[in-house]
Amino acid sequence: MTTARLIEIFSAIQGEGLNVGTRQIFIRFALCDLRCHFCDSAHTWSVPSTCRVERSPGLRDFETHPNPVPLNTLLTWIERQNSPGLHDSISLTGGEPLLHAPFLVEFLPLVRRATGLPIYLETGGHRPQQLQLILPYLDSVGMDIKLPSVSGEDRWNEHAEFLQACHQADIEVFIKAIVSSQTDLGDLAKAAKLVASVNPEIPVFLQPATPLTPSQQFGGIPIQAPTPAQVLHWQAMMKRELKQVRVIPQTHKMLNQL
Ligand code: SF4
Repeated sequence: MTTARLIEIFSAIQGEGLNVGTRQIFIRFALCDLRCHFCDSAHTWSVPSTCRVERSPGLRDFETHPNPVPLNTLLTWIERQNSPGLHDSISLTGGEPLLHAPFLVEFLPLVRRATGLPIYLETGGHRPQQLQLILPYLDSVGMDIKLPSVSGEDRWNEHAEFLQACHQADIEVFIKAIVSSQTDLGDLAKAAKLVASVNPEIPVFLQPATPLTPSQQFGGIPIQAPTPAQVLHWQAMMKRELKQVRVIPQTHKMLNQL
């Protein structure tokens, strides 16, 4: 039986990147193989015994169900969320959704047919082989570029291959890079060159880190948002290589959204 390992299902307003402000059905998958210093979803790193599922879109009337979840059950939950005209797309998020590529290969064609909604993948952008498996079922991709000076992760080669694969498949793609007061200018210059080498029209979103409380900090590493002067300087520098560089913080946190 094909099953998914999930954290939660809910309907909310997307707070990041190109789709900011749109309404999405979020499928948050368990497991992540990265350990970014700024991670605000460390609860997704392992598989919990249960997941939570919103009954009615946006009402936060969660039910609890055991993991793993059979494919048909997940499909039923998504159809229940899909009020006519309400949602703009389905967001695959995590954790790292591409760790579930074999499940997604089966699930995505069915959920597309059942809902008629576009599929948006939110990913660390470091698993190009798994991406290839599900590319035919995706409509858009928001991929991270992990800046080593901020995230502690160094994935330049994987990012380049990943972005190239999205571009060649002619899928809408944008880049998100979390920036903090510690961001190294050299990392941003390298990211700009990487994106420009694929296509300088690909939008890049610099997302100032949302400071974490001490108990949320991975390994006790404090993350501070950059100063206004820093983001102005970085945006100007990247715009020498790229057409679209926007600076947007996590808006869902301002709205008290999930
Ligand atoms: S990729 Fe996302 S979920 Fe994984 S550690 Fe980084 S921020 Fe957290």
